[in-house]
Amino acid sequence: MSSAHRVLAAIRGTRPSVSFEFFPPRDASAEAKLVQHVAAATEVRPDFVSVTYGAGGSSRNRMDGSVRLTRAIDGIGGPAVMAHLTLVGHTRGELDGIVQALAQAGADAMLALRGDPPGGPLAPWVATPDGYDHAVDLVRVMRRGAHDVGVAAFPHGHPASTGPAQDMAALAEKEQAGAAFAITQMVFDAPPYVELVARARAAGIGLPILPGIMPVGAAASVERLEAFSGAPLPSELLKRLDDAATNQAARAAVGIDWAVEIGAKLLEAGAPGLHFYTLNRSDTAAEVCRRLDLTGRPEQGD
Ligand SMILES: Cc1cc2nc3c(=O)[nH]c(=O)nc-3n(C[C@H](O)[C@H](O)[C@H](O)COP(=O)(O)OP(=O)(O)OC[C@H]3O[C@@H](n4cnc5c(N)ncnc54)[C@H](O)[C@@H]3O)c2cc1C
Repeated sequence: MSSAHRVLAAIRGTRPSVSFEFFPPRDASAEAKLVQHVAAATEVRPDFVSVTYGAGGSSRNRMDGSVRLTRAIDGIGGPAVMAHLTLVGHTRGELDGIVQALAQAGADAMLALRGDPPGGPLAPWVATPDGYDHAVDLVRVMRRGAHDVGVAAFPHGHPASTGPAQDMAALAEKEQAGAAFAITQMVFDAPPYVELVARARAAGIGLPILPGIMPVGAAASVERLEAFSGAPLPSELLKRLDDAATNQAARAAVGIDWAVEIGAKLLEAGAPGLHFYTLNRSDTAAEVCRRLDLTGRPEQGD
């Protein structure tokens, strides 16, 4: 079990933190490949990697997938692991047990999320009988175990929120409950992130907010990205993708160039680091880190 506070130390550190997000694959052979891939990504020395919590499948499978991947990545002995967890389909008692299992598997920090309803981000939320309604409840559960806890933040607003005031009230409540940092939904431009941080500070929220970015991959569908991030892609990015047409290598290069450009702007605007949504392909994120001269945690003796 890890209790080294490495995730929090990296986010609070003087260098920008670097983190890569992965999701648990469906079967054991894909998991073994992913773990090799994560090990290769440690070449750019991310400070931490995060393991998402499945949105579909049975409760038991989702828990097992996350716990197994957390343990396997912790076993590599490189970056710290942050485990995500959602309220979806779990009772209060189950959540207590999963938090303990994730900690025992080596999670150094946890991300407390409500999760989306099975009908998608805009469907009405239905709590599990004897479950919780809001992510803040999970923050409290995790803090009872003295775990370092992060939460989600939404530069373009949470899809079901009534507006920025409700989002800020929710974020403030989570900070008061003990959340120590936030990570944003994907941004494709710096201004939405900068405006989110300004709103948070104006609301008296002090926690560090890490922007989430994704180098748009060769095969990425613009519609899916927009649905996922809740934000229209900037017209300049769309134009460059259009110019690349169906040339996969050219589209991938556009995605990397764009991530380098907005990564630099985000850091210049004061972001404490960059969190990469890798979709389990960390090579492009690693390339962005190299080009931004971000090599994550120092080696022994640096
Ligand atoms: C960085 C990041 C990582 C993610 N990882 C995963 C993952 O691993 N697995 C997964 O399934 N999903 C993941 N998601 C998606 C996430 O679960 C959904 O976006 C979910 O809807 C987020 O809810 P929340 O944690 O903000 O919940 P909440 O804080 O509960 O907010 C949900 C809604 O309720 C409102 N609200 C909050 N508190 C209150 C209150 N006390 N009273 C009234 N209204 C309130 C909020 O304004 C918001 O509109 C991730 C999202 C991000 C940004």
